[in-house]
Amino acid sequence: MPLIVKKAKKTCQTDGCHKKAAPDRRHCYSCKQTRYAELHPIRIAFNITKQNAKRRHKDFELTYTQFELFCMQHGYHINKGRSKESLTIDRIDNSLGYSIDNIQIMTFSANSSKGSRIGDANYFHDVPF
Ligand SMILES: [Zn+2]
Repeated sequence: MPLIVKKAKKTCQTDGCHKKAAPDRRHCYSCKQTRYAELHPIRIAFNITKQNAKRRHKDFELTYTQFELFCMQHGYHINKGRSKESLTIDRIDNSLGYSIDNIQIMTFSANSSKGSRIGDANYFHDVPF
């Protein structure tokens, strides 16, 4: 008896995902994206930073190569996020855009207390002296 291979309506091969796989693929589109993000964290971080800069009408002069090196030096792509100790990219001079000379790594808490929160009682607590 010939082996019947079901071609239509394959489900995604990711554990716990029950979505339909993309045509001729083993995974669905969302899992494919998640997988891409896991494999290329710096590329994703670069795209997000670039999009954010555009949304906030800031110049973005970083090349991917510069950004990649910056990430490698500081581990930004590994420790980025929204927790207090997460790393963020800070523009040294806020009137300028993103360029390799104007960015530095900063923790999320230090970055959020920088700038507009002067006068806030918490402002001085997170500033490293
Ligand atoms: Zn999936």
